[in-house]
Amino acid sequence: MTDINLAGQTALVTGGNRGIGREVARALALSGAKVAVTGRNIEKLDETVELIRNAGGECAAFEMDVTDNKSILRAVTAVKDRYGEIDILVNNAGIGAGGQPPWEMDIDDWWYVQEVNVKGVFMVSHAVMPDMIARQKGCVINMGSYAGTYPNPYVSAYAVSKAALVRLTDSTAIAAKEYGVSVFVVSPGLVKTDMTDVPAFDDVPEDEWVPIEKIGVLCVALASGKADKLTGRFIHADVDDLDDLIARADDILEHDTYILSLIK
Ligand code: NDP
Repeated sequence: MTDINLAGQTALVTGGNRGIGREVARALALSGAKVAVTGRNIEKLDETVELIRNAGGECAAFEMDVTDNKSILRAVTAVKDRYGEIDILVNNAGIGAGGQPPWEMDIDDWWYVQEVNVKGVFMVSHAVMPDMIARQKGCVINMGSYAGTYPNPYVSAYAVSKAALVRLTDSTAIAAKEYGVSVFVVSPGLVKTDMTDVPAFDDVPEDEWVPIEKIGVLCVALASGKADKLTGRFIHADVDDLDDLIARADDILEHDTYILSLIK
């Protein structure tokens, strides 16, 4: 854990019932934040709550399907009733689908990935950010992926969704900056979770897997506000040293790097 203190802050983590979301929730809670974990499977969410409470953190579970705006609004209201205004939002819930070239993919399956990974992030942010803007305080962290940065012939739905998330992030960040609200997109690198527990990853060498704790540490640091100058940037948990990026912030802003750029 880090020495960052998030006491007095409320965080909402989507997809908090397992994998990266559970670890990010744990890291935020053990740094002092009150953490609302959301997802569709309330029993699994309760496991996250128990894990965090046993470790001394404050956490509660709220049912939320990120593809259903009514469910999002219901959960956000319940979180605010329980923990007060939301200071930190981690849009972590995400799915993959694939194995086939685009023309062989089922149309609805392909689109459903955008519903969860893009529209879900958009709708949860749409529900949470107006209060952040009004209070002139907040940090939004979107869970991106390397997969959005290069062609992925057999996981096109996922690649398209994660590329879109980068552009949604920087567009939102620029609009939110004058209100003191920061928005980041982060890439965890390859992390052992249910998502990667599939044959496609069977041959990945052990040293290419990123320890899941790294993404929690990065999210806590971003939530602390120490990197706010870099709002809108795409940060990689496995290769980027956040303190180094902060030290080079003027150069990064001047040359507009750590964004998805097609033309320069
Ligand atoms: P998991 O499959 O372990 O977890 C995905 C989470 O998303 C689950 O909590 C799941 O809950 C939730 N979720 C899915 N659909 C919905 C929905 N409609 N509404 C609410 N919650 C939903 O994957 P990871 O932990 O690996 O992935 C977490 C994030 O990290 C994703 O955005 C993924 O794209 C990203 N990522 C992961 C990498 C890796 O190597 N693992 C690499 C790069 C990015 P439920 O039980 O409801 O399905």
